[in-house]
Amino acid sequence: AEKLRIDKLLAHMGFGTRSEIKRAVKLGKVAVDGKVVKDSGLIVTPAQHKVTFDGETVVYRDVIYLMMNKPQGVISATEDGRERTVVDLLAPEDRLLNPFPVGRLDKDTVGLLLLTNDGGLAHELLSPRKHVDKMYEALVQGNVNEDDASAFQAGVTLDDGYVTLPAELQVLSRSLPRDSNGVIDDDGDQAAPVHSLIRLTIREGKFHQVKRMFQAVGKKVLTLKRVSMGPLKLDEYLPEGHYRELTEEEVELLK
Ligand code: URA
Repeated sequence: AEKLRIDKLLAHMGFGTRSEIKRAVKLGKVAVDGKVVKDSGLIVTPAQHKVTFDGETVVYRDVIYLMMNKPQGVISATEDGRERTVVDLLAPEDRLLNPFPVGRLDKDTVGLLLLTNDGGLAHELLSPRKHVDKMYEALVQGNVNEDDASAFQAGVTLDDGYVTLPAELQVLSRSLPRDSNGVIDDDGDQAAPVHSLIRLTIREGKFHQVKRMFQAVGKKVLTLKRVSMGPLKLDEYLPEGHYRELTEEEVELLK
């Protein structure tokens, strides 16, 4: 079992800075197995000892798994000199264990983003050999049709010559052209649907992949949202910009 200094453990769990904790120890606020701690450098084994702070039991954990509904306008990185990152959106106590985003969503893409400090799990999910399914919903300009679905099933050639693996495309709905009063304008002069809401499942994660796949069939992605990654589904009750810890069940699903 892991051993560490009690001041480090408490700092890790968000009970204050190392010096604040030193003071708390001096004030007799910290106890191990019911015995008041005198030395803030005391070595403890969190899995075996019951640590309390002001009488409150300190629950130790060293891994963190967060599901975020990433909003637009933030980048999927831990730190950036200029831009706001997804880690900047985390509360200070959730940043303590240094979670990082598993994979990348574009700045303007929203939806499911997993943040963790579990490097092994991140590696498994991102490994190109594992082909973890990623499902996206997108609003696409134009009439997405069966030909596009067949092309995506066969694989399309991206602008850099890469041929994509088979991907499943499903059209959820199409919007018809409307006049300035919002009335559907299907009088024949402009009868083609203008926008298509689609769902696309890909098994790889090339740079801008979804946008470039539509570009390959001459269409433009207007908005993009990731709704699932492997067995993990975006919690529909999680508003954009919000996040929560994964449930134990969700963590199990990923392992
Ligand atoms: N494909 C894209 O084009 N952008 C994303 O953010 C994710 C997948």
